[in-house]
Amino acid sequence: MRLADGVFLFSLLVLILGARGLEAVRSVGEGADLPDAAVDLNVSDFETALRESPASFAVVEFFAHWCPACRNYKPHYEKVARIFNGPDAVHPGIVLMARVDCALKINTNLCDRFSVGFYPMLLWGPPAKFVSGRWVPKQENGDLQLIDDGKTADQLLNWINKKLGSSFNFDDARYENENTLAKNASDLEQIAHAIYDVEEATALAMDIIIEQKMIKPSTGAPFIKFLQLLVAHHPSKRCRRGIADLLVSFDDLLPSGPLSENAPILQEYDILKSYRICGKEVPRQYWIFCRGSKDDSRGFSCGLWVLFHSLSVRVADGESQLVFTTIRDFIKNFFVCDDCRRHFNEMSSRVQAPFNTTRGLSLWLWRAHNEVNERLMKVEKDMGTSDPRFPKTTWPPNQLCPSCYASSSPKKGVNPQIDWNEDEVYKFLVNYYGKKLASLSRDTTLSQKTDDIDEPNDTATSSNAVAVPIGAALAIALASCTFGALACFWRGQQKKKKYLHQLHSFKDV
Ligand code: FAD
Repeated sequence: MRLADGVFLFSLLVLILGARGLEAVRSVGEGADLPDAAVDLNVSDFETALRESPASFAVVEFFAHWCPACRNYKPHYEKVARIFNGPDAVHPGIVLMARVDCALKINTNLCDRFSVGFYPMLLWGPPAKFVSGRWVPKQENGDLQLIDDGKTADQLLNWINKKLGSSFNFDDARYENENTLAKNASDLEQIAHAIYDVEEATALAMDIIIEQKMIKPSTGAPFIKFLQLLVAHHPSKRCRRGIADLLVSFDDLLPSGPLSENAPILQEYDILKSYRICGKEVPRQYWIFCRGSKDDSRGFSCGLWVLFHSLSVRVADGESQLVFTTIRDFIKNFFVCDDCRRHFNEMSSRVQAPFNTTRGLSLWLWRAHNEVNERLMKVEKDMGTSDPRFPKTTWPPNQLCPSCYASSSPKKGVNPQIDWNEDEVYKFLVNYYGKKLASLSRDTTLSQKTDDIDEPNDTATSSNAVAVPIGAALAIALASCTFGALACFWRGQQKKKKYLHQLHSFKDV
């Protein structure tokens, strides 16, 4: 071979390899201009983020911002994180991908706890095990595991796939290669994951109300009444806490002068918009128990139903009528699905006597929901709009609650008249929407409600209630404490905390 030919071939090879190399870098760095999908954590939010994550597993990357290898690794890590994290994730809620910058002084102890000896270092495990746990090199069978083969995006995804027995791929489309959908309608345990959807639906409902400026003189009282119900009985403690905060601010935002009927009750919507009533990462923009098999099915309205059912089994007998009117008025004023509120209003107006037991209320809501299911079974069949993975059924199905059926199997037919054993249905609802639903969230069992109150003597109520016109003022003042001492205590606590905080801030100045 002549020298010139050799040089030519060598140059060609360099060009080809260079192009391949560029291609590889480009495919990893494709999302360089997208916001980060992996969650940046530090010592102040590490435990909360991991404890409250709905994901079953977490990968934490320990890195240092000055480390060049970490900078080059970031596109790889982000490529994998985009599959699992964020609103556009194709497989959300399975793996939380996070990172901690160990070069920041505040994180020194945190990184020591995980024996971080090189950068980037990746650990794998259930999120809860990161909260209390530590990692020690060479310790086998620990809860946390070092990812020793995740140097590129492909290697990292392969490692995760092996661990999960999955076959996730960078080319997966949404709902493809799906293994996150609730699999089996007869699995009693799945409802536990709905706590995240209840939080999602609550936060989303507030966003819609605030975004669409739906709080007016005529809707102020039902709005506060609903918030009071949530403060006292929401199954998620952090939503209860966030809503108490919102209520305190709501007091402060009410104008002091008289209101005209058409004027919006609040001028400062921008302040309310900044509230994240169920924690700063909610809404997460994905659903878990309520995830449908296509984008436009299930989600928000499923989350709302689950919230209402969980409220209905958590209230005391004496509150049941008030809870009924509060939910009814919430749907009438704030659920922006016209057909839904018309139907619900029509079902509510058929109620003949006030509810005086939790049992009566929760069974009525169950029956009302089944009435909607039965209507939708037909509509969705005619229009071909049902979610094939989640067809409407008369609920609960026999597999989920055999004892709910008085006769051994439900009668067949288009509109079967089922012989329900309502005592069993009620027992089932209390277990399903009470105990089971709250079982994932450490602090939300029915009996723990009273633990939330630190100082039960404080009964602060809406300080601005007297300043609004007499009708609304009375309604708002009444609504402020309608759900009893529990709601008032909660709100009083938040108020006291707020003022204490302000006092400290003044002291600091
Ligand atoms: P959903 O019906 O949302 O149910 C959510 C979950 O609740 C189910 O997965 C199941 O686990 C459980 N469940 C089902 N039935 C019961 C029951 N009887 N008791 C207790 N738990 C049950 N859509 C319309 O098209 N027309 C309407 O008129 C209408 N009215 C609505 C009224 C309200 C108050 C709400 C919140 C929603 C309404 N919707 C209506 C929406 C509709 O009911 C469903 O929420 C939506 O179609 C999504 O259905 P899904 O398959 O997720 O199950």
